[in-house]
Amino acid sequence: MDQIQSAEALRERLGRADQVAFVPTMGNLHEGHLSLMRLARKHADCVVASIFVNRLQFGPNEDFDRYPRTFESDIAKLEREGVDVLFAPHEHDMYPTPQVYRVQPPPVGDELDGAFRPGFFNGVCTVVLKLFNLVQPDFAVFGKKDRQQLKLVRGMVQQFNLPIQIIPGETVRADDGLALSSRNNYLSPVERTEAPRLYRTLRGVADDIARGRTDYANLEASARSELARHGWKVDYIAVRNGIGLRIPHPEGFDHPNVLIVLGAATLGSTRLIDNVDVTPKDGED
Ligand code: AMP
Repeated sequence: MDQIQSAEALRERLGRADQVAFVPTMGNLHEGHLSLMRLARKHADCVVASIFVNRLQFGPNEDFDRYPRTFESDIAKLEREGVDVLFAPHEHDMYPTPQVYRVQPPPVGDELDGAFRPGFFNGVCTVVLKLFNLVQPDFAVFGKKDRQQLKLVRGMVQQFNLPIQIIPGETVRADDGLALSSRNNYLSPVERTEAPRLYRTLRGVADDIARGRTDYANLEASARSELARHGWKVDYIAVRNGIGLRIPHPEGFDHPNVLIVLGAATLGSTRLIDNVDVTPKDGED
């Protein structure tokens, strides 16, 4: 695997590639990330991963400084997966001058996670656009674990006419249902046993909708209280239409197989997010 830090070296290396599939990450790699590398491999002869903890998407009181950085073991995992190129720029490579030009996401970027993390999707979209311009991939793989991010990146690619196909990767979970996440490392052993309740609760709402319930607001409210009863601080539990993450029609006119249940909640000091499809579906996410 070639490890590359500068834009010049990246351009030189990728000039030799035919099709490029790109997987951006913030490192601290787990099986979820590695499943995306394997998916990327199905699409292109050259798989490029990036590791960059993007300061722009962290709020002033968020965990930028304590975000887990495990560069050496990440490299070993990527080598084992047969990734061709690791692009791991330093902060001054990505932001040699303050990033005053930004991508302004649409209003849905200020809802759900965006409502609780002001500027988050502005920071995400800005770094993803920069990475896309540096790597110039044919395909880019994003996890459904971060569903709102996946939607906003897909929208950005469409509206800015970027010649990149976005490939969604399924969420990889532990056996008890907890979605793998670098932030799971923050959980104490007791919190770790409690943590799968977020997934179970979202799954419960999705199953109720699949069985015909359309009183989404009631379902959201009882899911919120269920989590709160077990010590969670809930940011949101939301039933949304998979197309554009719009609020579904209160009479339940949206077809259940386009609905997604999303949630974010904090356990102790660890904020977890997750989402489930009401009914499993193929195709665009
Ligand atoms: P991150 O390093 O958290 O920025 O994530 C990098 C990519 O991995 C994003 O596209 C995430 O959606 C994806 N990802 C994170 N966790 C998982 C998971 N459990 N399963 C599948 N993809 C994931």
